[in-house]
Amino acid sequence: MMMTALKQTHVRISRLDRMLITAVVLLSSVFPVELFSNTLPAPKGLDGQYSGKQGQVLVVKVKGEEQATEVKGTFLSRTIQFFREFRPGEPTGYIGLLGIDMQDDPGTYELAVEVKQGEQAKQLSFNVLVAKEKFAVEHLTLPKEKVDLDEKSVARWKAEQEQVKQALAENSRLKLWHSNFVEPVNGKRTGIFGSVRIMNGQPRNPHNGEDIGAPMGADVAASNDGVVRLTVDHVFSGRGVFIDHGLGFYTMYFHLSEVLVKDGDLVTAGQIIGKVGATGRATGPHLHWGVKLNGARVNPYSLLDLPFKSGVTLPTPATIPTPETAPTPEAVPVRE
Ligand SMILES: [Zn+2]
Repeated sequence: MMMTALKQTHVRISRLDRMLITAVVLLSSVFPVELFSNTLPAPKGLDGQYSGKQGQVLVVKVKGEEQATEVKGTFLSRTIQFFREFRPGEPTGYIGLLGIDMQDDPGTYELAVEVKQGEQAKQLSFNVLVAKEKFAVEHLTLPKEKVDLDEKSVARWKAEQEQVKQALAENSRLKLWHSNFVEPVNGKRTGIFGSVRIMNGQPRNPHNGEDIGAPMGADVAASNDGVVRLTVDHVFSGRGVFIDHGLGFYTMYFHLSEVLVKDGDLVTAGQIIGKVGATGRATGPHLHWGVKLNGARVNPYSLLDLPFKSGVTLPTPATIPTPETAPTPEAVPVRE
């Protein structure tokens, strides 16, 4: 009798607990700041909320009637330079591309935006929810010498890393890219961006780009307008090209058999910059396509999926070839 009564009480409390927890969760999602105003250091996300997965690119919009002198965002210590958006018949606004690095920890972070107008500055605060992406695990078997580097190769690799770091630190303050992105090669999207790599049984750094399978010697196009910041012949990347599209946005093309551009060249979207190869650490001919956005390693295909439909800035000049067999952004499946 006692036992039953106790049990029932216990059940009732559990149900009540569950209801309370549900209510708190519901309330906190509606009033994230007010409910815990005593425990949170400062209200965040007052101006909106964004969410995305690791490796994704988010388009952040800031409204503004007047022309600001500078609009700059800070997210996880990265600086996001906003640019002016103009659409006929719509109020002027500013857009920033926010990259979520493939290894950013899931959670909620603040994107602080400062809108400067002459002497005055306005602060905006957005919440950015970073969700976990389910990255694949890849097992690769490579010649031993390509995985276990000797001392000389390790020193070379370190020097190459430094060279890339320095070149990428110098990004163009001008926005050179436009909304019509081009898939650099007509090939098979392998969907292994961010995959955890096990090489010859040893865990290695995650894969920081997308590999596109294509025949040896196939044309590789620049995915947007920009300036060639660096051309390399590196131990892992092989022959490669780094393009600076401005405002902290870079694309990279690795394992090329041939490089057809040189440092400082201006390139346009669709321009052939090299040929598919298997130089560096590669198991066969393919293009490694990588993107860095304000230092965040993002999935290059998220650029093709960006919601820019009606040219934010420049229209694509008619002379620029667009790969005919390339899938339209709408038709490209987003990998889960
Ligand atoms: Zn790759």
